[in-house]
Amino acid sequence: MPADHNPMPAAPSAAVVDDPWEMALRQFSQVAGRLALKRGIQEFLATPQRELTVRFPVKMDDGSVRVFTGYRVHHSLILGPTKGGIRFHQDVTLNEVRALAMWMTWKCALVNLPYGGAKGGVIVDPKTLSPGELERMTRRYASEITVLMNPRSDIPAPDVGTNAQVMAWIMDTFSMHRGHSVTAVVTGKPVTIGGSVGRKEATGRGVTFAARETARLLGLPWRGAPVVVQGFGNVGSATARLMWEEGCVITATSDVRGGIHNPRGLDLPALEQHVAATGSVAGFPGAESIANRDLLELPCTYLVPAALEGQITGANADRIRARVIVEGANGPTTPDADAALDARGITVVPDILANAGGVVVSYFEWVQDLQSLFWSEGDINQRLERLMVRSVREVATLAREQRISYRLAALQRAVTRVAGALMTRGIYP
Ligand code: NAD
Repeated sequence: MPADHNPMPAAPSAAVVDDPWEMALRQFSQVAGRLALKRGIQEFLATPQRELTVRFPVKMDDGSVRVFTGYRVHHSLILGPTKGGIRFHQDVTLNEVRALAMWMTWKCALVNLPYGGAKGGVIVDPKTLSPGELERMTRRYASEITVLMNPRSDIPAPDVGTNAQVMAWIMDTFSMHRGHSVTAVVTGKPVTIGGSVGRKEATGRGVTFAARETARLLGLPWRGAPVVVQGFGNVGSATARLMWEEGCVITATSDVRGGIHNPRGLDLPALEQHVAATGSVAGFPGAESIANRDLLELPCTYLVPAALEGQITGANADRIRARVIVEGANGPTTPDADAALDARGITVVPDILANAGGVVVSYFEWVQDLQSLFWSEGDINQRLERLMVRSVREVATLAREQRISYRLAALQRAVTRVAGALMTRGIYP
């Protein structure tokens, strides 16, 4: 075989920060270099195992037909069935889905779940579709990815722009083709159809546990500490609510329509009511409005980016005034920013650790569905807490021992596990 056959994707230059896949590859090549992985193993782990692109027609309410593009990527099947959310967003790209799938592989490995990593997405702004159009689009996308999706091999979950209702339609569509209910094919479903109690808030709860444990380890204040949360969706709103319940002071938050700021603290129950009534945090009477860019640069102890990738970059990292960044979102901090934050002594609790609570409780949901035996919310939250606290401690210990960032330590543990499993299984045939 010629030496340049199927070369490993080159790690991008230090200047590239925009593309999540290039970010993910840069992070991986840093760790692969430290672990001295063999070239072939490195090449294999840097490449998604399967990628599916689907184009499908959907009948719109006005009688027209619109063609959508969607993806499902399996990054790694080494540790078990693949797991990863489905994103509905107008800016979805194949590279973004690849990056999110790779991060799922590391996340599941880091917290010791028997899963490989996957992700899916459709290029669509779901807010522009009527409820009927959204349902038809979801059901057709679900049918299109059925060649990959299966309760034993690939189990989707919610991500940006999708929710429990979307998961219910996917589960129903899959079940209609089988002739019986297959609840375990997706997680994040409504509790009434096999969902797990505690799943809706699980990611935010995990972020809260990760932040609190980091506070303990670093000797930082917790009750009364100022917190800024970017994004008030599933992850951001649950994180804000749970940190507020723990006595932290949520001074600012935002969504795609705008940001709000009150240095004395936001009244979370009142804010939730405002969001329920208006659909946005913008215009909340108990706060001043603030631009998204400025929100990230507010002084605080904990900054929780919980929106999209690439928010903290080489361009604004020097102006971040948080003590700890707890990544609710996937990929919010670019590698350039990581280096700048590290140099300034700002701790970043990385996405694959901080937001692992979602996939952990998704795993609990899948196990419950397979057994048709359901656990109490107390059980679920306790198991989640134990797992998050242990994972944060393990990462912090490795980071301290090797004098590396939490991100590098987390990735190193995860990649070591996946590469170790691959070597133990051997290369077929
Ligand atoms: P969501 O769609 O429920 O919420 C996203 C929020 O971000 C919305 O409030 C949206 O208005 C806001 N937003 C988007 N662009 C913004 C911008 N430029 N400025 C400020 N706010 C903006 O999505 P989610 O499920 O909460 O996911 C958020 C992040 O968390 C994503 O990175 C996702 O991959 C990650 N994540 C989600 C889960 C989960 O269980 N849902 C699990 C792990 C990680």
